[in-house]
Amino acid sequence: MEIFTPVYYEKFRCLADACPDSCCQEWDVDVDPDSAAYYRGLPGPLGERLRQVLTDTGDGTVMVLEEGRCPMWRRDGLCEIQKRLGEAALCRVCRTFPRLRHDYGTFAELGLALSCPEAARLILGETASRMEVRQTQDGQEAPDYLPEDMEILRDSRRAFLRFLDKETYALPQSLGVLLLYAHQVQGELDGEPPAPLEEARCLEAARKYAASRTQPLQPFFLGLEILTPQWRKRLQAPARPPKWQPEHRALLRYLVQRYWLQAASDLDLVCRAKLMVSLCLLTASLGGGLLPTAQLMSKEIENSWENIDAILEAAYETPALTDANLLGLLSLR
Ligand code: SF4
Repeated sequence: MEIFTPVYYEKFRCLADACPDSCCQEWDVDVDPDSAAYYRGLPGPLGERLRQVLTDTGDGTVMVLEEGRCPMWRRDGLCEIQKRLGEAALCRVCRTFPRLRHDYGTFAELGLALSCPEAARLILGETASRMEVRQTQDGQEAPDYLPEDMEILRDSRRAFLRFLDKETYALPQSLGVLLLYAHQVQGELDGEPPAPLEEARCLEAARKYAASRTQPLQPFFLGLEILTPQWRKRLQAPARPPKWQPEHRALLRYLVQRYWLQAASDLDLVCRAKLMVSLCLLTASLGGGLLPTAQLMSKEIENSWENIDAILEAAYETPALTDANLLGLLSLR
């Protein structure tokens, strides 16, 4: 099995006590069964403390936050478990975050989560879509998709990333091309003959379909699960026209790399294209620096499968997420 990684993957180093945010705050830490059993069996004051803070939910075990932070977080910004027992003693999620693995049976892709500020710095600093084969591993599983569908998705993602890297168009136009091209690839997945990416034709169609009167995205996002007061406040601020920054191209690369192939699970690429377009539009409309805004967006949206599913499900019925509205918000004319 081949394992692919973006080139920045190996550069990641946790900022630990110098982290401006910390992954130890705002969400309960899911503790895997082996770690939970190990923690509960530890002797002494640390074991006692862990037995107090580990809570079984219907779905597993979590460490419930205290004053908005993991109870193992220390005032010096370090983790009590790591400090006393070493990195190997961390539970799986703390050991791996922000590293991601997308397993497609015959191959896998590794990545970093944008919700970590150091990962966000690396992701948004990328100037081209570069993936490399990191290693080959023995063993693979039979995929639960048809190989020809995955081939369509991999080829089309490669074609779109190549187009994006050429920087032929500004980002709003590139997002318009993305949405129209996703419809074309969707046709291929549904049995239509293959066709190359023709960006000028996609852009022309995108301009034609764009609504002249648009609805902002913020009310829809306010209806999703919200983790932090600052995200609610950002969404409640008056809607502003999108302000595009050079790093938005890197954000789009990351979204395309992360979500495009996931369409193999249900053969719906269009709803994922809408997810990518709406997250780019949202971060451009909220103002402020892109890095902290994108990191916060990722924490609120990408780290919640409920929120991602809600967006994918709403893609065809919510007025703010129609093709016409998204294209209208891009101001392509
Ligand atoms: S958010 Fe990222 S940099 Fe900060 S402590 Fe967690 S892994 Fe380290």
